Amino acid sequence: VEAAARSLEDNPWFNAGYGSALTSAGTVEMDASWMDGERLVAGAVGCVTRLKNPISLARAVAEKTPHVLLVGPGAEAFADELGTPRVPAESLIAPRALDRFKLHQQTARTQPSFGTIGAVAVDQRGHVAAATSTGGTSFKRPGRVGDSPLIGLGTYADDEAGAISATGHGEAIIRVVLAKTICDAARTLPAKEAALVGLKALERVQGEAGIILVKPDGDFAMVFNTVQMSRAWIRADGLEGSAVAPG
Ligand code: ASP
Repeated sequence: VEAAARSLEDNPWFNAGYGSALTSAGTVEMDASWMDGERLVAGAVGCVTRLKNPISLARAVAEKTPHVLLVGPGAEAFADELGTPRVPAESLIAPRALDRFKLHQQTARTQPSFGTIGAVAVDQRGHVAAATSTGGTSFKRPGRVGDSPLIGLGTYADDEAGAISATGHGEAIIRVVLAKTICDAARTLPAKEAALVGLKALERVQGEAGIILVKPDGDFAMVFNTVQMSRAWIRADGLEGSAVAPG
């Protein structure tokens, strides 16, 4: 999941890493999280800047520190300790994100746009993992942290139920504890029904989101109540698929 997330972070079409949505100050502040469902080990970073691949730092928090979440300067100092190179802040700003930022400024738009990236996976032995990375909602206030680095909200993985990554309106996702809610439902329900339990929970807070979920037996689902969600899947035997539109 880390490798999948890194490749999406490097792709300017998605709101993570290079291409992150900009804050209201025109800066990039990224959040990411990673979880291993076998050991229930999780790591996350919030409000990091000048890092090309926040997901790798999130994984390092899980595997190399006794902590789960590091934010801001402390997270970046940890990246320095690991020898992770800092990149110039401007190098994370993609032309598309800048255009959106300018449009937002000009139109005083209040609706945030989404585009967080996520990956979930299961191996032959039924071990699951999840990763999520984002620039956060567009035009967010500097210092705002969304659901993506919060374990149990934007990301969760447990070999006893499944691995989940969410995108969408972070404040709504936080309020319904989305990923853990879906994970608990997946203990007894097929993937799609469990994911729909999450969308149902979001109705109470009028939340828009997209969810990807894989269970330890390989059953998986990709559901959303947004207009569209770019998504793709691949199986070990090479069978694969991708879609953007509903259905
Ligand atoms: N969930 C992210 C956040 O609220 C935004 C997104 O999905 O694009 O930070």
